[in-house]
Amino acid sequence: MRIDKYLANMNVGSRKEVHQLIKKGVVAVNGKTVKTPKEKINENDVVTVNGEEIAYQKYHYFLLNKPKGVLSATEDRSQKTVISLLDSQDQYQGIVPVGRLDKDTTGLLLLTNDGQLNHELLAPNKHVAKVYRAQIAGVADEETAKTFASGMTLGDGTKLKPAKLKILKQDRENATSEIEIEISEGKYHQIKRMFGAVGMKVTALDRRSMGNLHLPADLKRGKYVELSLDEVKNIK
Ligand code: URA
Repeated sequence: MRIDKYLANMNVGSRKEVHQLIKKGVVAVNGKTVKTPKEKINENDVVTVNGEEIAYQKYHYFLLNKPKGVLSATEDRSQKTVISLLDSQDQYQGIVPVGRLDKDTTGLLLLTNDGQLNHELLAPNKHVAKVYRAQIAGVADEETAKTFASGMTLGDGTKLKPAKLKILKQDRENATSEIEIEISEGKYHQIKRMFGAVGMKVTALDRRSMGNLHLPADLKRGKYVELSLDEVKNIK
């Protein structure tokens, strides 16, 4: 890999910033000052910037606050994807979203190139709890909560695991509600279909947490933070 790509991937700076560091003569490989951004390095080389070692990090984890109107996909011919929201130095090969949020759903989405973690989090037997806040057209009440808690069956025969519904606000006059729902699966359009099955409509859906990983309150829509392996390895 080229030294400039390596340093950008390790979040030392953008390609442009990395080129400036190389020009300044503060980047070294195995103790030798790097002369050109084109210099090639391999995994065993010791790379330093201003004398500080920049260790190779194979896997990256980004927690994105997904905005509306963006696809949970890696590429698309005509539409914006969650990967396109990453700064160019973070768009490593192999970074994919962990599961999917609908195009109009907002909130927490993990992106990673760690295939093992991705697989573990999505495994059907893992049951990682996902908590969403939603606006509902319809009056969700204790009856709705009981139906969801019982493990309902959707119209097409899909059997769901019990889900926890908390009613945050109820407006009977305008027939709207604000709710929090916890599900442990990730079936296609699951929450929309659950409300559809009880005659209501989800008008806004925002994921707030996945296991013990929470959407930071100060993370703006479309923005993301990089997480350490320690922060993601115990998601459950
Ligand atoms: N359930 C849905 O209906 N949509 C999502 O995006 C996530 C859960």
